Amino acid sequence: MITDIFCKIINGEIPAEVVYQDDHVWVIKDIAPQAPVHFLIIPVKHFTGLDDVAEHDEALLGKLFRVAHDMAKKQNLDKGYRLVVNEGEHGGKLVPHLHIHLLGGKNLK
Ligand code: 5GP
Repeated sequence: MITDIFCKIINGEIPAEVVYQDDHVWVIKDIAPQAPVHFLIIPVKHFTGLDDVAEHDEALLGKLFRVAHDMAKKQNLDKGYRLVVNEGEHGGKLVPHLHIHLLGGKNLK
């Protein structure tokens, strides 16, 4: 795993193309897009992964999905899109900060 680049982005230490931000959620463009639209939905609160999520975080996790859907609508992904969470080594997780990938803009079959 590499260091937590997303905390550094949220703290303004390294740049990113920010699509949306509020007090709880940031959305940035993936630096190596795998689809015409490839955004990362990132909670400001640091969770290394789903192991760190407690019951009182459930509303925040729900918000991540709502923001992801809003982003998909704003990008006119009317034909559909994919949300992905990579978890742990076998899941292919690289950045140790919980995030959802939003992929779309082509047929992902
Ligand atoms: P993971 O495998 O952890 O779910 O995916 C991490 C994602 O973060 C990858 O798709 C990768 O391209 C993206 N990424 C890694 N470093 C940076 C960065 O510095 N800036 C941005 N915008 N995306 C990054």
